[in-house]
Amino acid sequence: MFNALVVRKDEESGKTSAAVEQIGLDDLPAGNVTVAVDYSTVNYKDGLCIGPGGGLVRKYPHVPGIDFAGTVEASDDARYAPGDKVVLTGWRVGEAHWGGFTQKARVNADWLVPLPEGLTSRQAMAVGTAGFTAMLAVMALEDHGLTPDKGEVLVTGAAGGVGSVATAILANLGYDVAGVTGRPEQEDYLKGLGAKRIVAREEINETVKRPLESETWAGCVDAVGGPMLARVLGQMKYGGSVSAVGLAGGAGLPATVIPFLLRGVNLLGIDSVMQPYENRLRAWKRIASDLPMDKLEAMVHPAVLADLPDLGRAILKGGVRGRVVVDVNA
Ligand code: NDP
Repeated sequence: MFNALVVRKDEESGKTSAAVEQIGLDDLPAGNVTVAVDYSTVNYKDGLCIGPGGGLVRKYPHVPGIDFAGTVEASDDARYAPGDKVVLTGWRVGEAHWGGFTQKARVNADWLVPLPEGLTSRQAMAVGTAGFTAMLAVMALEDHGLTPDKGEVLVTGAAGGVGSVATAILANLGYDVAGVTGRPEQEDYLKGLGAKRIVAREEINETVKRPLESETWAGCVDAVGGPMLARVLGQMKYGGSVSAVGLAGGAGLPATVIPFLLRGVNLLGIDSVMQPYENRLRAWKRIASDLPMDKLEAMVHPAVLADLPDLGRAILKGGVRGRVVVDVNA
């Protein structure tokens, strides 16, 4: 028997509740690799799946946790053998399939990648889906021509998970990073990660009538969406690109097409869930080389399985700073 965070749904009231329970290997879903999980983490989607699910969870009881790092315990797949260190992000694990908030997980080998060289399983989960996605977002900007000499790069939702990692990577690569935050008390934290200046959320969150403002940003990693993304599009420099990662501020986009037509602005969609294997390897390799580990450590808040119900609520309210690392064996 081992510990897992199990979410149950009361059929009569429709209400869900999450608690640490003891489950056995026979309870785990079908899959060809069983992993002894070392660490997991807390992402925005986990907040949804620890609670009522927001339409993501297919059936209950459910074990959430959209990512984990651990050690292969048993494998029917030639690519993995007992003792191999592995990482999992995406593939709807923790939503449609049982996830990483457990001491043991059973998954499909296709969803795993080997733990990147140079990272521990704890560091891999300090990065987690949020950091992996931040790296994909930076890579997309580079693939569309962004270089440090082009000018300032904006990161929205900067004190969150995606934003923190994006800030640290971009600063380390030599970019001038401006971070948008609604939490002025996080200024020192963000400057510590390498942000050169802080933009107050309210300065950039309001819809304006003018479709174009002065050309300010050479690139942007946007974790917020909604009116803020619309506003950012109108502030991009000629030919600049925005990586659209998240919707912490809303899924709507009250924008015009003018920035695309008159300034050649690119809006790049970033999906971490279905990324092909080769691109996953490329992103993890870049994380190992371009994300300073001391900066990563500064983002980390340690947690245990029993903390997850509270943390799930907190992340949905934008109340988590940086990256939570869950030691599932503590
Ligand atoms: P976090 O909650 O850690 O960070 C989100 C940040 O956005 C908050 O910390 C806050 O930053 C800011 N924010 C929150 N609410 C608002 C609001 N109403 N208006 C403006 N800003 C707000 O989440 P993550 O960093 O883990 O994820 C960020 C987004 O990216 C989420 O929407 C998530 O679903 C999405 N995501 C998408 C992925 C993909 O594959 N495309 C993968 C991973 C995440 P601050 O306090 O600094 O203002």
